[in-house]
Amino acid sequence: MITKIIQEEKIQKAKKYVEKGERFVIVTHVSPDGDALGASLGLYHFLSAYGKDQVAVVVPNVFPSFYRWMPGSKEIVIYEKYPDFAVELLQKADVIFCLDFNEPKRIGKLAQPVLEAPGRRVLIDHHLNPADFCRVVMSYPEMSSTSEMIFRFICRMGLFELINKETATCIYTGMMTDTGAFTYNSNQTEIYTIIGELIKKGIDKDWIYRQVYQVYSESRLRMLGYVLYEKMKLYPEKRAALITLSQAELNRFGYQSGDTEGFVNQPLAIEGVDFSAFIREDKKYIKISLRSVGEFPCNLFASRYFNGGGHKNASGGEFDGSLDEAIRIFERGLAEFTY
Ligand code: 5GP
Ligand code: MN
Repeated sequence: MITKIIQEEKIQKAKKYVEKGERFVIVTHVSPDGDALGASLGLYHFLSAYGKDQVAVVVPNVFPSFYRWMPGSKEIVIYEKYPDFAVELLQKADVIFCLDFNEPKRIGKLAQPVLEAPGRRVLIDHHLNPADFCRVVMSYPEMSSTSEMIFRFICRMGLFELINKETATCIYTGMMTDTGAFTYNSNQTEIYTIIGELIKKGIDKDWIYRQVYQVYSESRLRMLGYVLYEKMKLYPEKRAALITLSQAELNRFGYQSGDTEGFVNQPLAIEGVDFSAFIREDKKYIKISLRSVGEFPCNLFASRYFNGGGHKNASGGEFDGSLDEAIRIFERGLAEFTY
């Protein structure tokens, strides 16, 4: 059996909300990734299987196309596209689940309507330092994904039987993507106990892997080639690497949201590199992604130089300025950063 990680009192409180609630909204962070979507859709399918027929997943903005195969993804309400509908759902919700984020800022423009909604909020998350905006706070940074927490939450309510193939598929997707397909942050043995249970529920883990990692468009693969050949700068004495892409470069390769997902991990394949940064010029801001292997604390680097945060080995931030400025800040940071 798996260890009881989540405090009993929190489980019981949330369970009551689940039993009594009629209308549910599940929200997750901006630019939802596999774990954000996996946890949200996993919980969505579970609540549906439990008999709740008014459950909605609301996300701030679009998610990558390589998650569109996920069961339930077509039902997701994108706030940027349907703000009025999303606000109506939130206003009527008895319970609002806040998944895979630790502070309202992480849901962007959704923050205000979520905070103003009268429903009870439940946080389920694995980021450090949760802000105080939910009645029930299940925050366990030692968990490798929020999706894993959803599995644990359902089991602890005594409702393992209600996990169907759809729920299991979504949970597995989140567990897989937040650990780079179990290549980092993935040494807890219970992860594999859980995967065993998910396989018994009928998931095809090899198929899920292919849907997420082997569905590049031609232009995306060519952009990766370009990035690796021309745009990767190494800082050998710092055991670090940097990739940058401007708007013009993104346009040249017909950039679609999600196309650069995973680029930041590539330099870590080089022997002697254990810190990698990717700086991308988005329309509204400069997006910074940081990854490391071992002890280098990406989250400290992200918060110190880019007002961001995240996990030790995977963090990010946003910068309001030019791409060149962001690069200068990165290089200055690299030169002086100690931890
Ligand atoms: P990614 O590089 O995939 O966008 O983000 C990796 C991780 O860093 C995310 O899971 C999240 O925890 C964190 N992160 C990314 N962007 C931000 C940001 O702007 N602010 C904060 N606080 N964390 C971020
Ligand atoms: Mn996560």
